[in-house]
Amino acid sequence: VKSILAITMNPSVDISYPLKTLHLNTVNRVNDVAKTAGGKGLNVARVLHQLNSPVIASGVLGGTIGEFIEKQLDETGIRHEFMAIDQESRNCIAILHDDMQQTEILEKGPILNSNDETKFLVHFEKQLENIAVVTISGSLPEGLSKRLYAQMIEISSSKGIPVLLDSSGETLKASLTGDKKPFLIKPNQEEIAQLIQQPIKDLTHLKQILTDNQLFSGVEWIVVSLGADGALVKHGTQCYRLTIPKIDVVNPVGSGDSTVAGLASAISKKASDIEIMTTGMATGMLNTIEKQTGFINTNLFTEYYEKVLIKKIN
Ligand code: ATP
Repeated sequence: VKSILAITMNPSVDISYPLKTLHLNTVNRVNDVAKTAGGKGLNVARVLHQLNSPVIASGVLGGTIGEFIEKQLDETGIRHEFMAIDQESRNCIAILHDDMQQTEILEKGPILNSNDETKFLVHFEKQLENIAVVTISGSLPEGLSKRLYAQMIEISSSKGIPVLLDSSGETLKASLTGDKKPFLIKPNQEEIAQLIQQPIKDLTHLKQILTDNQLFSGVEWIVVSLGADGALVKHGTQCYRLTIPKIDVVNPVGSGDSTVAGLASAISKKASDIEIMTTGMATGMLNTIEKQTGFINTNLFTEYYEKVLIKKIN
């Protein structure tokens, strides 16, 4: 069977420091530290692995932080083939304090150049053997061309491999104005508004934007995720409204990534349109009821799959 290649260009070790109270300008001691391999594409890879979809995690990694990420992937049993760089990958720190407050300190990560870019594109192209689907998630490290994802989409498309892109801002824009369009994009409403530099009034307006704006023409699947409100989807010329019931959310971070994993898994199995959309919603919801980011309880998959409602809209 073919695998899914899950790309993370700027992975991190995510460190969480739970503190009862955060004291400024003095020492804070923390007892239960959690350090996990992070970055949106790694969340996608973890959920795919849980769904039993063969996955290879790729992107760029370096230094002892890079080694830590690879070790954690080994322990989970996730195949990885990152390109090594001679800089450290980043740490991202989240301090959880004072009753649900979250203070984050995010390193920028390595600064790469056009040489790294050329090397990575060669690395990427070599990986495309026996790949059913490529997912690309998150932002690019500084120094790389905003067109890198567009180039990766061109390479994949020339081999007939669909790309699922979950990015935002300039990189998303560059990927929608390239020679080849991604097969699927999964922006949220805010990312669409930012892309077209216009606020979105309501779902009718959103549907109109997806239909009329040239940026989106030729993108086979547009999945606009709406958090607790489900999603608005455009597939070809058909639009769908996906709704989900109210559920008890524990931690919604990474549910977009979990949705991408569900979509990729179903697409790689050549599932029907309805199955693709339903799987994406089910995996998104399943992530929100777990403490851990990019983690789902697969025993509950069928139960949540059955909760998704899909209606054609025109
Ligand atoms: P993130 O950036 O945190 O990964 P996102 O903004 O990309 O998230 P969302 O639209 O928040 O993505 O969530 C993706 C999917 O996860 C939703 O379409 C839905 O299926 C599920 N989901 C997210 N939040 C909730 C919620 N509060 N209740 C139920 N389901 C949710």
